[in-house]
Amino acid sequence: MGLAVAHGLARHGWSVHLLRRARREAAGFAAAGMAAPHAEGLSGPLLALAQRSLPMIPPWVDAIEEDSGLPCGWLPCGAVVPFTSQAQRQAFPTAALGRPLDRAALEAEAPGISPAFTCGLLFTQDGQLDSRRRLMAALERACHRRGVRFEEGVTVERLCREEDGGGQQHLVGIALRTSDGERQQRPCGQAVLCCGAWSQQLLPCVPVTPVKGQMFSVQAPRRALRRVLFGPDAYLVARQDGLVVVGATTEQVGFTPGLTPMGQTRLERSLRQLLPAAARWPPMERWYGFRPCTKDQQPVLGPGPLKGLVMATGHHRNGVLLAAVTAELTRAVLEAGPAGCRAPHWAAPFLHAFRWSRFSSTPAGEAALEASWPEFG
Ligand SMILES: Cc1cc2nc3c(=O)[nH]c(=O)nc-3n(C[C@H](O)[C@H](O)[C@H](O)COP(=O)(O)OP(=O)(O)OC[C@H]3O[C@@H](n4cnc5c(N)ncnc54)[C@H](O)[C@@H]3O)c2cc1C
Repeated sequence: MGLAVAHGLARHGWSVHLLRRARREAAGFAAAGMAAPHAEGLSGPLLALAQRSLPMIPPWVDAIEEDSGLPCGWLPCGAVVPFTSQAQRQAFPTAALGRPLDRAALEAEAPGISPAFTCGLLFTQDGQLDSRRRLMAALERACHRRGVRFEEGVTVERLCREEDGGGQQHLVGIALRTSDGERQQRPCGQAVLCCGAWSQQLLPCVPVTPVKGQMFSVQAPRRALRRVLFGPDAYLVARQDGLVVVGATTEQVGFTPGLTPMGQTRLERSLRQLLPAAARWPPMERWYGFRPCTKDQQPVLGPGPLKGLVMATGHHRNGVLLAAVTAELTRAVLEAGPAGCRAPHWAAPFLHAFRWSRFSSTPAGEAALEASWPEFG
Protein backbone atom coordinates (compact mmCIF):
# COMPACT_ATOMS: atom_id res chain seq x y z
CA MET A 1 0.00 0.00 0.00
CA GLY A 2 2.82 2.35 0.90
CA LEU A 3 4.49 1.86 -2.47
CA ALA A 4 1.25 2.10 -4.44
CA VAL A 5 0.10 5.23 -2.62
CA ALA A 6 3.55 6.86 -2.82
CA HIS A 7 3.81 6.17 -6.54
CA GLY A 8 0.33 7.56 -7.25
CA LEU A 9 1.06 10.70 -5.26
CA ALA A 10 4.51 11.24 -6.78
CA ARG A 11 3.06 10.94 -10.29
CA HIS A 12 0.70 13.78 -9.40
CA GLY A 13 3.44 16.09 -8.20
CA TRP A 14 3.42 15.34 -4.47
CA SER A 15 6.62 15.20 -2.50
CA VAL A 16 6.56 11.82 -0.70
CA HIS A 17 8.73 10.44 2.07
CA LEU A 18 8.40 6.68 2.58
CA LEU A 19 9.47 5.20 5.93
CA ARG A 20 9.78 1.42 6.01
CA ARG A 21 10.97 -0.84 8.77
CA ALA A 22 11.75 -3.92 6.69
CA ARG A 23 11.33 -4.59 3.02
CA ARG A 24 11.39 -8.37 3.49
CA GLU A 25 8.50 -8.50 5.97
CA ALA A 26 5.96 -6.85 3.65
CA ALA A 27 3.07 -9.17 2.76
CA GLY A 28 3.31 -7.84 -0.79
CA PHE A 29 6.36 -10.08 -1.24
CA ALA A 30 4.40 -13.10 0.01
CA ALA A 31 1.18 -12.60 -1.93
CA ALA A 32 0.06 -14.95 -4.68
CA GLY A 33 -1.10 -11.84 -6.51
CA MET A 34 -4.56 -13.02 -7.48
CA ALA A 35 -6.83 -10.27 -8.65
CA ALA A 36 -9.78 -12.61 -8.42
CA PRO A 37 -12.69 -11.16 -6.43
CA HIS A 38 -15.26 -13.23 -8.32
CA ALA A 39 -13.43 -16.53 -7.83
CA GLU A 40 -13.03 -15.66 -4.16
CA GLY A 41 -16.80 -15.16 -3.91
CA LEU A 42 -16.58 -11.68 -2.40
CA SER A 43 -19.80 -9.81 -1.76
CA GLY A 44 -21.19 -6.45 -0.60
CA PRO A 45 -19.04 -3.30 -0.46
CA LEU A 46 -15.83 -5.34 -0.68
CA LEU A 47 -16.91 -6.82 -4.02
CA ALA A 48 -17.89 -3.34 -5.21
CA LEU A 49 -14.46 -1.98 -4.22
CA ALA A 50 -12.74 -4.89 -5.95
CA GLN A 51 -14.83 -4.40 -9.08
CA ARG A 52 -13.76 -0.76 -9.05
CA SER A 53 -10.12 -1.82 -8.72
CA LEU A 54 -10.07 -4.52 -11.41
CA PRO A 55 -10.45 -2.24 -14.46
CA MET A 56 -8.02 0.23 -12.87
CA ILE A 57 -5.27 -2.41 -12.86
CA PRO A 58 -4.23 -2.34 -16.56
CA PRO A 59 -3.66 1.47 -16.69
CA TRP A 60 -2.08 1.35 -13.21
CA VAL A 61 0.31 -1.36 -14.38
CA ASP A 62 1.08 0.66 -17.55
CA ALA A 63 2.06 3.64 -15.39
CA ILE A 64 4.30 1.54 -13.13
CA GLU A 65 5.92 -0.20 -16.09
CA GLU A 66 6.43 3.12 -17.88
CA ASP A 67 8.10 4.68 -14.82
CA SER A 68 10.15 1.65 -13.81
CA GLY A 69 10.97 -0.03 -17.12
CA LEU A 70 10.11 -3.32 -15.34
CA PRO A 71 7.18 -5.73 -15.92
CA CYS A 72 4.56 -6.21 -13.21
CA GLY A 73 3.42 -9.64 -14.37
CA TRP A 74 -0.20 -8.61 -15.01
CA LEU A 75 -2.09 -11.46 -16.64
CA PRO A 76 -5.85 -11.19 -17.28
CA CYS A 77 -5.97 -14.99 -17.30
CA GLY A 78 -9.39 -15.61 -15.75
CA ALA A 79 -10.08 -17.91 -12.83
CA VAL A 80 -11.85 -21.25 -12.44
CA VAL A 81 -13.71 -22.38 -9.32
CA PRO A 82 -14.49 -26.14 -9.22
CA PHE A 83 -17.43 -27.66 -7.33
CA THR A 84 -18.43 -31.17 -6.30
CA SER A 85 -22.14 -30.55 -6.95
CA GLN A 86 -24.48 -28.28 -8.86
CA ALA A 87 -26.09 -27.20 -5.59
CA GLN A 88 -22.72 -26.01 -4.31
CA ARG A 89 -22.21 -24.03 -7.49
CA GLN A 90 -25.63 -22.40 -7.32
CA ALA A 91 -24.97 -21.28 -3.74
CA PHE A 92 -21.68 -19.59 -4.63
CA PRO A 93 -22.00 -15.82 -3.93
CA THR A 94 -20.81 -14.68 -7.37
CA ALA A 95 -22.33 -17.57 -9.37
CA ALA A 96 -24.42 -15.22 -11.51
CA LEU A 97 -21.28 -13.41 -12.69
CA GLY A 98 -19.46 -16.54 -13.93
CA ARG A 99 -19.76 -18.87 -16.89
CA PRO A 100 -21.01 -22.33 -15.81
CA LEU A 101 -18.74 -25.25 -16.76
CA ASP A 102 -19.82 -28.88 -16.98
CA ARG A 103 -17.26 -31.60 -16.22
CA ALA A 104 -15.88 -31.67 -19.79
CA ALA A 105 -15.52 -27.88 -19.91
CA LEU A 106 -13.97 -27.88 -16.44
CA GLU A 107 -11.36 -30.41 -17.59
CA ALA A 108 -10.63 -28.26 -20.63
CA GLU A 109 -10.07 -25.17 -18.45
CA ALA A 110 -8.13 -26.99 -15.72
CA PRO A 111 -6.48 -30.06 -17.28
CA GLY A 112 -5.82 -32.81 -14.74
CA ILE A 113 -8.36 -31.60 -12.20
CA SER A 114 -9.51 -34.25 -9.70
CA PRO A 115 -12.57 -36.33 -10.78
CA ALA A 116 -14.19 -35.32 -7.46
CA PHE A 117 -15.11 -32.01 -9.08
CA THR A 118 -18.11 -32.34 -11.37
CA CYS A 119 -18.70 -28.76 -12.49
CA GLY A 120 -17.31 -25.27 -12.17
CA LEU A 121 -17.50 -21.55 -12.83
CA LEU A 122 -15.20 -19.57 -15.07
CA PHE A 123 -14.63 -15.91 -14.26
CA THR A 124 -12.92 -14.34 -17.25
CA GLN A 125 -12.93 -10.96 -15.44
CA ASP A 126 -10.31 -12.15 -12.93
CA GLY A 127 -6.53 -12.15 -13.32
CA GLN A 128 -3.23 -12.06 -11.49
CA LEU A 129 -0.17 -9.91 -10.83
CA ASP A 130 3.25 -11.42 -10.09
CA SER A 131 3.44 -9.53 -6.84
CA ARG A 132 6.35 -11.43 -5.26
CA ARG A 133 8.76 -11.51 -8.23
CA ARG A 134 7.73 -8.47 -10.28
CA LEU A 135 5.14 -5.97 -9.05
CA MET A 136 6.83 -5.01 -5.77
CA ALA A 137 10.22 -4.47 -7.41
CA ALA A 138 8.65 -2.51 -10.26
CA LEU A 139 6.76 -0.31 -7.79
CA GLU A 140 9.93 0.35 -5.82
CA ARG A 141 11.86 1.35 -8.95
CA ALA A 142 8.93 3.49 -10.17
CA CYS A 143 8.81 5.28 -6.81
CA HIS A 144 12.57 5.93 -6.87
CA ARG A 145 12.39 7.30 -10.40
CA ARG A 146 9.45 9.55 -9.49
CA GLY A 147 11.48 11.04 -6.65
CA VAL A 148 9.95 9.29 -3.62
CA ARG A 149 12.49 9.50 -0.77
CA PHE A 150 12.96 6.12 0.90
CA GLU A 151 14.17 5.60 4.43
CA GLU A 152 14.77 1.92 5.08
CA GLY A 153 15.04 0.26 8.47
CA VAL A 154 13.04 3.02 10.15
CA THR A 155 10.36 2.11 12.68
CA VAL A 156 7.69 4.69 13.36
CA GLU A 157 7.05 4.25 17.07
CA ARG A 158 4.42 6.86 17.81
CA LEU A 159 2.12 9.41 16.18
CA CYS A 160 2.40 12.77 17.91
CA ARG A 161 -0.86 14.67 18.28
CA GLU A 162 -2.16 17.99 19.51
CA GLU A 163 -5.67 19.08 20.30
CA ASP A 164 -7.09 22.28 18.87
CA GLY A 165 -9.56 24.56 20.63
CA GLY A 166 -12.51 22.55 19.31
CA GLY A 167 -11.29 19.27 20.82
CA GLN A 168 -10.11 17.89 17.48
CA GLN A 169 -6.85 15.92 17.54
CA HIS A 170 -4.31 16.79 14.85
CA LEU A 171 -1.28 14.87 13.65
CA VAL A 172 1.73 17.09 14.30
CA GLY A 173 4.68 14.70 14.14
CA ILE A 174 6.08 11.20 14.32
CA ALA A 175 8.50 9.61 16.75
CA LEU A 176 10.76 7.07 15.08
CA ARG A 177 13.76 4.82 15.58
CA THR A 178 16.36 4.65 12.81
CA SER A 179 18.18 1.50 11.67
CA ASP A 180 21.11 2.31 13.99
CA GLY A 181 18.84 2.70 16.99
CA GLU A 182 18.73 6.50 17.14
CA ARG A 183 15.42 7.96 18.32
CA GLN A 184 14.09 11.04 16.53
CA GLN A 185 10.98 13.18 16.54
CA ARG A 186 10.01 14.81 13.27
CA PRO A 187 7.28 17.30 12.45
CA CYS A 188 4.61 15.84 10.19
CA GLY A 189 1.19 17.25 9.40
CA GLN A 190 0.07 14.74 6.78
CA ALA A 191 0.72 11.00 6.67
CA VAL A 192 -0.75 7.77 5.34
CA LEU A 193 -0.86 4.88 7.78
CA CYS A 194 -0.05 1.75 5.76
CA CYS A 195 1.78 -0.54 8.19
CA GLY A 196 -0.06 -3.69 7.12
CA ALA A 197 -0.47 -6.30 9.86
CA TRP A 198 1.45 -4.04 12.28
CA SER A 199 -0.94 -1.08 11.97
CA GLN A 200 -2.58 -1.53 15.35
CA GLN A 201 0.77 -1.05 17.09
CA LEU A 202 0.59 2.60 16.01
CA LEU A 203 -3.13 3.08 16.31
CA PRO A 204 -4.74 0.84 18.94
CA CYS A 205 -8.27 2.00 18.03
CA VAL A 206 -8.01 0.28 14.63
CA PRO A 207 -8.18 -3.49 15.16
CA VAL A 208 -5.80 -4.90 12.54
CA THR A 209 -4.31 -8.27 13.45
CA PRO A 210 -1.95 -10.62 11.58
CA VAL A 211 -3.22 -13.72 9.78
CA LYS A 212 -0.29 -15.83 8.78
CA GLY A 213 -0.22 -17.48 5.35
CA GLN A 214 2.26 -20.12 4.21
CA MET A 215 2.80 -20.92 0.55
CA PHE A 216 5.02 -22.85 -1.82
CA SER A 217 5.66 -23.01 -5.54
CA VAL A 218 6.15 -25.87 -8.00
CA GLN A 219 7.53 -25.78 -11.53
CA ALA A 220 4.98 -27.01 -14.07
CA PRO A 221 5.44 -27.36 -17.81
CA ARG A 222 4.66 -24.00 -19.46
CA ARG A 223 0.94 -23.55 -20.13
CA ALA A 224 0.06 -26.65 -18.07
CA LEU A 225 -2.44 -24.37 -16.37
CA ARG A 226 -3.74 -21.19 -17.98
CA ARG A 227 -6.28 -20.00 -15.42
CA VAL A 228 -6.07 -19.29 -11.72
CA LEU A 229 -7.57 -22.43 -10.13
CA PHE A 230 -9.39 -21.58 -6.92
CA GLY A 231 -10.18 -24.81 -5.05
CA PRO A 232 -11.92 -25.20 -1.70
CA ASP A 233 -8.69 -25.81 0.27
CA ALA A 234 -5.96 -24.49 -2.02
CA TYR A 235 -5.52 -22.20 -4.97
CA LEU A 236 -3.05 -22.41 -7.84
CA VAL A 237 -1.70 -19.38 -9.66
CA ALA A 238 0.31 -20.25 -12.76
CA ARG A 239 2.79 -17.68 -14.02
CA GLN A 240 3.66 -17.41 -17.69
CA ASP A 241 6.97 -19.26 -17.20
CA GLY A 242 5.18 -22.27 -15.69
CA LEU A 243 5.90 -21.52 -12.04
CA VAL A 244 2.77 -22.38 -10.07
CA VAL A 245 2.21 -20.66 -6.74
CA VAL A 246 0.19 -22.77 -4.29
CA GLY A 247 -1.58 -21.11 -1.39
CA ALA A 248 -2.25 -20.64 1.30
CA THR A 249 -2.67 -21.46 4.97
CA THR A 250 -4.76 -19.23 7.25
CA GLU A 251 -3.29 -19.20 10.75
CA GLN A 252 -4.13 -17.14 13.83
CA VAL A 253 -0.70 -17.36 15.46
CA GLY A 254 0.17 -13.70 15.93
CA PHE A 255 3.57 -12.81 14.45
CA THR A 256 5.05 -16.30 15.00
CA PRO A 257 7.65 -16.54 12.24
CA GLY A 258 8.62 -19.50 10.07
CA LEU A 259 7.22 -22.37 8.06
CA THR A 260 5.67 -25.36 9.82
CA PRO A 261 5.62 -29.02 8.74
CA MET A 262 1.88 -29.13 9.45
CA GLY A 263 1.09 -26.07 7.35
CA GLN A 264 3.21 -27.22 4.43
CA THR A 265 1.95 -30.81 4.56
CA ARG A 266 -1.64 -29.64 4.61
CA LEU A 267 -1.05 -27.44 1.57
CA GLU A 268 0.64 -30.30 -0.31
CA ARG A 269 -2.31 -32.58 0.46
CA SER A 270 -4.80 -29.95 -0.71
CA LEU A 271 -2.83 -29.54 -3.94
CA ARG A 272 -2.94 -33.31 -4.62
CA GLN A 273 -6.68 -33.39 -3.92
CA LEU A 274 -7.32 -30.54 -6.33
CA LEU A 275 -4.93 -31.40 -9.15
CA PRO A 276 -3.38 -34.87 -8.73
CA ALA A 277 -1.04 -34.29 -11.71
CA ALA A 278 0.68 -31.49 -9.79
CA ALA A 279 2.21 -34.04 -7.40
CA ARG A 280 4.81 -34.73 -10.13
CA TRP A 281 5.87 -31.09 -10.49
CA PRO A 282 9.12 -30.31 -8.65
CA PRO A 283 8.89 -28.04 -5.60
CA MET A 284 10.73 -24.71 -5.88
CA GLU A 285 10.34 -22.30 -2.98
CA ARG A 286 8.47 -22.02 0.33
CA TRP A 287 7.58 -18.82 2.20
CA TYR A 288 5.10 -17.10 4.49
CA GLY A 289 3.72 -13.66 5.29
CA PHE A 290 1.24 -11.84 7.51
CA ARG A 291 -2.07 -10.58 6.09
CA PRO A 292 -3.44 -7.44 7.77
CA CYS A 293 -6.91 -8.45 8.92
CA THR A 294 -9.62 -6.39 10.61
CA LYS A 295 -12.58 -7.74 12.62
CA ASP A 296 -14.82 -7.74 9.54
CA GLN A 297 -11.99 -8.75 7.16
CA GLN A 298 -12.41 -5.54 5.17
CA PRO A 299 -9.96 -2.67 4.72
CA VAL A 300 -9.74 0.62 6.57
CA LEU A 301 -9.59 3.55 4.16
CA GLY A 302 -9.89 7.31 4.16
CA PRO A 303 -9.58 9.93 6.89
CA GLY A 304 -8.19 8.57 10.16
CA PRO A 305 -8.86 9.45 13.79
CA LEU A 306 -6.34 12.32 13.69
CA LYS A 307 -6.72 15.23 11.34
CA GLY A 308 -3.97 14.84 8.72
CA LEU A 309 -3.78 11.05 9.02
CA VAL A 310 -5.18 8.93 6.19
CA MET A 311 -5.72 5.18 6.51
CA ALA A 312 -4.73 2.54 3.93
CA THR A 313 -4.61 -0.74 5.82
CA GLY A 314 -6.49 -3.95 6.70
CA HIS A 315 -6.60 -5.34 3.16
CA HIS A 316 -6.33 -8.92 4.43
CA ARG A 317 -6.32 -11.37 1.46
CA ASN A 318 -6.92 -8.72 -1.20
CA GLY A 319 -4.19 -6.11 -0.91
CA VAL A 320 -2.74 -6.72 -4.36
CA LEU A 321 -6.16 -6.68 -5.99
CA LEU A 322 -7.09 -3.49 -4.12
CA ALA A 323 -3.80 -1.60 -4.46
CA ALA A 324 -4.86 0.35 -7.56
CA VAL A 325 -8.12 1.62 -6.07
CA THR A 326 -6.52 2.26 -2.68
CA ALA A 327 -3.84 4.44 -4.25
CA GLU A 328 -6.49 6.42 -6.12
CA LEU A 329 -8.79 6.76 -3.13
CA THR A 330 -5.99 7.83 -0.80
CA ARG A 331 -4.79 10.46 -3.21
CA ALA A 332 -8.35 11.76 -3.61
CA VAL A 333 -8.66 12.11 0.17
CA LEU A 334 -5.32 13.90 0.48
CA GLU A 335 -6.12 16.20 -2.41
CA ALA A 336 -9.51 17.06 -0.96
CA GLY A 337 -7.65 17.98 2.26
CA PRO A 338 -9.08 18.51 5.72
CA ALA A 339 -10.42 21.94 4.87
CA GLY A 340 -11.00 21.26 1.23
CA CYS A 341 -13.50 20.39 -1.37
CA ARG A 342 -15.32 17.11 -1.77
CA ALA A 343 -13.76 13.79 -2.72
CA PRO A 344 -14.88 12.44 -6.10
CA HIS A 345 -18.43 11.16 -6.16
CA TRP A 346 -17.42 7.52 -6.70
CA ALA A 347 -15.25 7.53 -3.57
CA ALA A 348 -17.93 8.56 -1.07
CA PRO A 349 -19.65 5.17 -0.55
CA PHE A 350 -16.30 3.44 -0.12
CA LEU A 351 -15.04 6.02 2.35
CA HIS A 352 -18.19 5.43 4.34
CA ALA A 353 -18.13 1.61 4.14
CA PHE A 354 -14.46 1.34 5.06
CA ARG A 355 -14.17 4.16 7.63
CA TRP A 356 -12.02 3.39 10.67
CA SER A 357 -14.75 4.47 13.10
CA ARG A 358 -16.94 1.45 12.26
CA PHE A 359 -14.89 -0.34 14.93
CA SER A 360 -15.41 2.36 17.50
CA SER A 361 -18.05 1.28 20.02
CA THR A 362 -18.49 4.83 21.27
CA PRO A 363 -20.60 7.37 19.40
CA ALA A 364 -17.69 9.75 20.09
CA GLY A 365 -15.58 7.84 17.58
CA GLU A 366 -18.17 8.47 14.87
CA ALA A 367 -18.70 12.05 16.00
CA ALA A 368 -14.99 12.78 15.86
CA LEU A 369 -14.91 11.63 12.26
CA GLU A 370 -17.91 13.69 11.25
CA ALA A 371 -16.48 16.77 12.92
CA SER A 372 -13.00 16.44 11.51
CA TRP A 373 -13.93 15.67 7.91
CA PRO A 374 -17.46 16.94 7.39
CA GLU A 375 -17.14 16.67 3.62
CA PHE A 376 -16.85 12.89 3.91
CA GLY A 377 -19.40 12.40 6.66
C1 LIG B 1 0.38 -15.79 1.88
C2 LIG B 1 -0.35 -14.58 1.36
C3 LIG B 1 -1.01 -14.65 0.14
C4 LIG B 1 -1.68 -13.52 -0.34
N1 LIG B 1 -2.29 -13.58 -1.58
C5 LIG B 1 -2.91 -12.49 -2.07
C6 LIG B 1 -3.50 -12.53 -3.35
O1 LIG B 1 -3.45 -13.55 -4.06
N2 LIG B 1 -4.14 -11.40 -3.82
C7 LIG B 1 -4.21 -10.26 -3.06
O2 LIG B 1 -4.80 -9.29 -3.53
N3 LIG B 1 -3.64 -10.20 -1.84
C8 LIG B 1 -3.00 -11.28 -1.33
N4 LIG B 1 -2.44 -11.24 -0.09
C9 LIG B 1 -2.65 -10.04 0.73
C10 LIG B 1 -1.69 -8.91 0.43
O3 LIG B 1 -0.38 -9.40 0.38
C11 LIG B 1 -1.83 -7.88 1.54
O4 LIG B 1 -3.18 -7.50 1.70
C12 LIG B 1 -1.03 -6.62 1.21
O5 LIG B 1 0.30 -6.95 0.91
C13 LIG B 1 -1.07 -5.66 2.39
O6 LIG B 1 -0.27 -4.57 2.06
P1 LIG B 1 0.22 -3.57 3.18
O7 LIG B 1 1.06 -2.57 2.51
O8 LIG B 1 -0.95 -3.15 3.99
O9 LIG B 1 1.13 -4.48 4.16
P2 LIG B 1 2.56 -5.09 3.91
O10 LIG B 1 2.71 -5.50 2.48
O11 LIG B 1 2.76 -6.14 4.96
O12 LIG B 1 3.55 -3.87 4.18
C14 LIG B 1 3.63 -3.28 5.45
C15 LIG B 1 4.97 -2.56 5.54
O13 LIG B 1 4.90 -1.68 6.66
C16 LIG B 1 6.13 -1.73 7.35
N5 LIG B 1 5.89 -1.34 8.74
C17 LIG B 1 5.10 -1.92 9.64
N6 LIG B 1 5.10 -1.24 10.81
C18 LIG B 1 5.94 -0.21 10.63
C19 LIG B 1 6.36 0.87 11.47
N7 LIG B 1 5.91 1.02 12.71
N8 LIG B 1 7.25 1.76 10.96
C20 LIG B 1 7.72 1.64 9.68
N9 LIG B 1 7.34 0.66 8.85
C21 LIG B 1 6.46 -0.25 9.31
C22 LIG B 1 6.58 -3.17 7.21
O14 LIG B 1 7.98 -3.26 7.41
C23 LIG B 1 6.16 -3.48 5.77
O15 LIG B 1 7.21 -3.20 4.87
C24 LIG B 1 -1.72 -12.32 0.41
C25 LIG B 1 -1.03 -12.25 1.63
C26 LIG B 1 -0.35 -13.36 2.10
C27 LIG B 1 0.40 -13.26 3.40
